[in-house]
Amino acid sequence: MTTESMYQEIGIRPEVLKFGTKIEKSLKERFDRIDETAEYNQLKVIHAMQKNRVCAECFNQSSGYGYNDLGRETLEAVYASVFHTESALVRPQITCGTHALALALSSNLRPGDELLSISGKPYDTLEEVIGIRPSMGSLKEYGVSYSQVDLKPDGSFDFEKIREAIKPHTRLIAIQRSKGYQTRPTLSVEKIGEAIAFVKGIRKDLIVMVDNCYGEFVERIEPSDVGADMTVGSLIKNPGGGLAPVGGYIAGTEHCIENAAYRLTSPGLGKEVGATLGVNQSFFQGLFLAPTVTASALKGAILAANVYESLGFPVVPNGTESRHDIIQAVTFGKAEGVIEFCKGIQAAAPVDSYVTPEPWAMPGYDSDVIMAAGAFVQGSSIELSADGPIKPPYAVYFQGGLTYPHAKLGILMSLEKLVEAGIVTLP
Ligand SMILES: *Cc1c(COP(=O)(O)O)cnc(C)c1O
Repeated sequence: MTTESMYQEIGIRPEVLKFGTKIEKSLKERFDRIDETAEYNQLKVIHAMQKNRVCAECFNQSSGYGYNDLGRETLEAVYASVFHTESALVRPQITCGTHALALALSSNLRPGDELLSISGKPYDTLEEVIGIRPSMGSLKEYGVSYSQVDLKPDGSFDFEKIREAIKPHTRLIAIQRSKGYQTRPTLSVEKIGEAIAFVKGIRKDLIVMVDNCYGEFVERIEPSDVGADMTVGSLIKNPGGGLAPVGGYIAGTEHCIENAAYRLTSPGLGKEVGATLGVNQSFFQGLFLAPTVTASALKGAILAANVYESLGFPVVPNGTESRHDIIQAVTFGKAEGVIEFCKGIQAAAPVDSYVTPEPWAMPGYDSDVIMAAGAFVQGSSIELSADGPIKPPYAVYFQGGLTYPHAKLGILMSLEKLVEAGIVTLP
């Protein structure tokens, strides 16, 4: 059987395959550059594993208090090496990205301090952490105030306003690398570095935290390489490589990480406790795979951008611009477009391919949301997934793909559904 007939059997008509493959061929040089970044980052990860003497005993499991968990301690040393930081906290007890960010913030801020976001409104789930939307146990309830400087209309930092916003009681500066659910461009590590140098030039003692979700291994450097005191993310996104079943990380200075560890477990106990219950191997192996998995997801995002851009839909980032995270937004301008796209992603999944996603009123969102994912790890967004709020401008956010062939199938299947529904006519 040929590959073409395999595609037909799985539900992709020849015209859709032909259209997608033609665009794919035009992307060869960009894909080569992504492979070069993956090669560099693969070496970085292997070198960190060798330097910290990862061994078979690291995969043993601990229970109870988890004292002297060699795997946990070695893994944290490996993360610190990869991110070039003094220390790191990498734990299954950190339940998700929001938790990692909440931990980094709440452990390094004290009553009377101010948190200043210089990349505009933070990710939705942080609104309750900070107290922008009132919530039990928010930073606001503990006497931590918040202020924000928006990015300029072109997506760059507003240095003048940042200078004005830094007050004597400003303690921590937050920067979000990825655009999240906004349509602003994602920030490059280089630009983040310029902003960090600027704020440290005003006050050297300011702590800078970067929300690195979706950004890991997209470039050769990370925010920690350009001066961030804390770089924070989720293990069910890029650095978990699709294998980590849970978890989050904070990589940073000794002092910031000690604060975070004291908050996660208890003052006095810190990093010394925390059983790993058998997850160590998947954390190590996931990190090992993360550079190539991220590359697959990136190629998928670039293919999607170029396919939908050539059909006339607005896409962010556009087909040719440089990438700083793995998220691709496509604006359909009508609800049916978002829904059919998501149906295609679901139908291409290895798990739950037979279910049909529908919009619903998810907690934490202010409109109905549709989500497509057929993942091995629940909610994992390094696996191929798509979601979109059912409200104008009717944009879908697409990300992930543990392998490039799967990402490609997902994109072709989304196009197939849009063609079937009469929303798209192929040229
Ligand atoms: C995903 C994400 C988060 C939150 O992570 P969860 O694991 O969903 O809690 C925070 N910030 C950004 C930019 C993200 O993409």
